[in-house]
Amino acid sequence: MKVYTQNKYESEEILGKIITAFEKHRITPNPMNFLVWYEYFLGSYPKLIAVLDNALQNRDGYTNTLGVRVYEEFLREQQASTSDLERAFRRLLERMVSKLLDWTKSMDSHTQELDLYVSQLADKHDIDTETLRNLTGNVLSTTRSIVASQTEMQQDLIAATSQITRLQKELEEARAEAMTDMLTKVANRRWFEQDLELAMQATRENNQLAVILMDIDFFKKFNDNYGHLIGDAVLRFISSILKKNVEPSQLVARIGGEEFAVLVPNATIEEAFLLAETLRTKVATSHLKRKDTGETIGNINISLGIASYRVGEDWDTLYQRADAALYESKNNGRNKTTIAPL
Ligand code: GH3
Ligand code: MG
Ligand code: MG
Repeated sequence: MKVYTQNKYESEEILGKIITAFEKHRITPNPMNFLVWYEYFLGSYPKLIAVLDNALQNRDGYTNTLGVRVYEEFLREQQASTSDLERAFRRLLERMVSKLLDWTKSMDSHTQELDLYVSQLADKHDIDTETLRNLTGNVLSTTRSIVASQTEMQQDLIAATSQITRLQKELEEARAEAMTDMLTKVANRRWFEQDLELAMQATRENNQLAVILMDIDFFKKFNDNYGHLIGDAVLRFISSILKKNVEPSQLVARIGGEEFAVLVPNATIEEAFLLAETLRTKVATSHLKRKDTGETIGNINISLGIASYRVGEDWDTLYQRADAALYESKNNGRNKTTIAPL
């Protein structure tokens, strides 16, 4: 995969050139053409430059079909990294939209001039009606063609926008997948760490953000008794209990094999403790049954540890305090919640 190393200013310079070229040669501003022309101005493929230069000399000029061919021949193998592409697209789009606004403004003033012209003509009594009608007709048709070309430009832009939107949606989905735990569909450790980092940055006072860590009790024995597949089903089941019992602002994550965490923003340690106890009880009192045989499976319990964020501590320390509290729950008989001293 090709990595683009140009900085913001270099890329913007290239973008400026692309926009000028797109206007001049009436090139459709779609992502593929954009990528081809980005490479053209970047200049790393002399052959690509020669092909495009040659096309511009021809009668047909640069066409979308040629763009596809050039892309296939030179660029397909080493596409830009998605985030670079995304940033570049967004900048392109912003530029195009601001161009459009400029065009609209200049069209408006153009139309106003024409209107004025018509009204001045109408004021002149020594012009015969026939001439006046002709003039008015001309003026009207000019206006219409201006509007038509503007509409065409707008449609191009709308098409480009919808392609960019679709691309962004795909990128977002890919990103969400990379942040999700495949087995349980809750957030994975990476997502949890990222959100924790952000929540810590947003928290200004001690005791306003809490982390709950939990670990399934004797899960190894459970796996030994019922098999790994049923163990997996239990992990999914516990995830769904956790998800069902937290607020949307509280993030549930699977941070290890049989370890989960909940990020509890804007909450005191007492509030987080109540939540932790609710979660612990919900898990402890749920009855598991094998779907295939109907056999009841022994209870599953979890042990929990909570730590409240001290402003200024790093996330490792916060995490270790919660983990130490969890360890205490394990040592004191399991199926318990322990609060780490602030
Ligand atoms: P403790 O109460 O001290 O936590 O005991 P434990 O048996 O839960 O602790 P231990 O860390 O020894 O074992 C964790 C077990 O979790 C080991 C492994 O079999 C199981 N486990 C980890 N990840 C998965 C998974 O993805 N699926 C299944 N089915 N089991 C898993
Ligand atoms: Mg464990
Ligand atoms: Mg365990």
